Amino acid sequence: MTPTPMRAGVMDSQRPGLVVTLPCRELSTGARVGRALLRLAIVSGIGLAILPVPLMHVCGAIVAAVAGPIAAVFAFRGRAVVGPGEISCPKCSKPLAVPAKLIGWPARFQCLDCKAMIDLTPAEAAP
Ligand SMILES: [Zn+2]
Repeated sequence: MTPTPMRAGVMDSQRPGLVVTLPCRELSTGARVGRALLRLAIVSGIGLAILPVPLMHVCGAIVAAVAGPIAAVFAFRGRAVVGPGEISCPKCSKPLAVPAKLIGWPARFQCLDCKAMIDLTPAEAAP
């Protein structure tokens, strides 16, 4: 984890947001493949585990064959791990705790005060 400047904005807002510094670790391709395979093993494993259950075996096959690879693709798309830390909310300006192990980019979490969905993106990628 290295402190990294990033932009905190409100999701779907055109306002530029705030630049904050939070701990961040970029995932290597190997780490991303590892995460994807782990997710595939977990989701497809659940699907295979319910295969012997009567009336559930079709669902199990679908989970194992379809949901597992989809979950793996989503796991592979995560390129960085962000947090934990504290910023002020770009919408309501209240102090806001950033949960640990957010997956980016964008890393998203909700402000507990104003319910705004906060987007964290790398500062250099912003226009
Ligand atoms: Zn807020």
